[in-house]
Amino acid sequence: MRTPIIAGNWKMNKTLPESVAFVKELAPALAPYTSVERVVGPTYVALAAVSEALSGTDIAVSSQGIHWEDEGAYTSQIAPVMIQDLVTYAIIGHSECRAYLGETDEEVNKKARAALAHGIKPIIAVGESLEQNEAGETSSFVGGQVRAALEGISAEDMPKVVIAYEPIWAIGTGKSASGEIAQNIIGGTIRAVLIDLYGDEVAQKIRIQYGGSVKPDNMAEYMSQPDVDGALVGGASLKVDAFTELVKIAA
Ligand code: PEP
Repeated sequence: MRTPIIAGNWKMNKTLPESVAFVKELAPALAPYTSVERVVGPTYVALAAVSEALSGTDIAVSSQGIHWEDEGAYTSQIAPVMIQDLVTYAIIGHSECRAYLGETDEEVNKKARAALAHGIKPIIAVGESLEQNEAGETSSFVGGQVRAALEGISAEDMPKVVIAYEPIWAIGTGKSASGEIAQNIIGGTIRAVLIDLYGDEVAQKIRIQYGGSVKPDNMAEYMSQPDVDGALVGGASLKVDAFTELVKIAA
């Protein structure tokens, strides 16, 4: 009943011309797989051109971040009003933003609320470090991140929210969590928190992705898990063939 969503996080890759050329090749390749929501996440500088290149297709565009204010003295940041006509989604709370840009749980929450207020759907990333994982703290840590991110977000808005479980130790490392581990955290922790906060009916509508070294050869394992509703993909989203294969497997 939940439409799978596969989102590509391009990170700091592809120039403006490369981004446009890429989506022009990607769009026809992804066109047949309408049962899957397909999303690309270019850099800020390419958002307008990619959005224009994809107009008339059903492929959605995501920004890789967002600020919570409408304007002001926030050097390097992008306000929701500046991208609200270009994107459907915004990735918030990615572990690289938490680690390198100091994005806190409180900021993740402010950004998620600001996105929703501007008609942008947040993809909220959560996940534990290797140390936390080895210390058996995954469930409590990830559950806490989810609760903090969703503070003040109404049940009515929740179906617009996507959550991505991305264990930090699996991002860009080639070490992926098994399907069983992903299911345990996504179903046993994240969806359980959503049920606690919003009740079963709302919680069952919310899509939860797995992210962390997702590749064509492990995608089927994730998609066969009952609570995994797609993937947030870094490396494999940069190649037309690999990203198309992921979408095809999810379809
Ligand atoms: C990501 O950037 O969100 C990610 C999961 O990267 P990768 O697929 O390369 O591990």
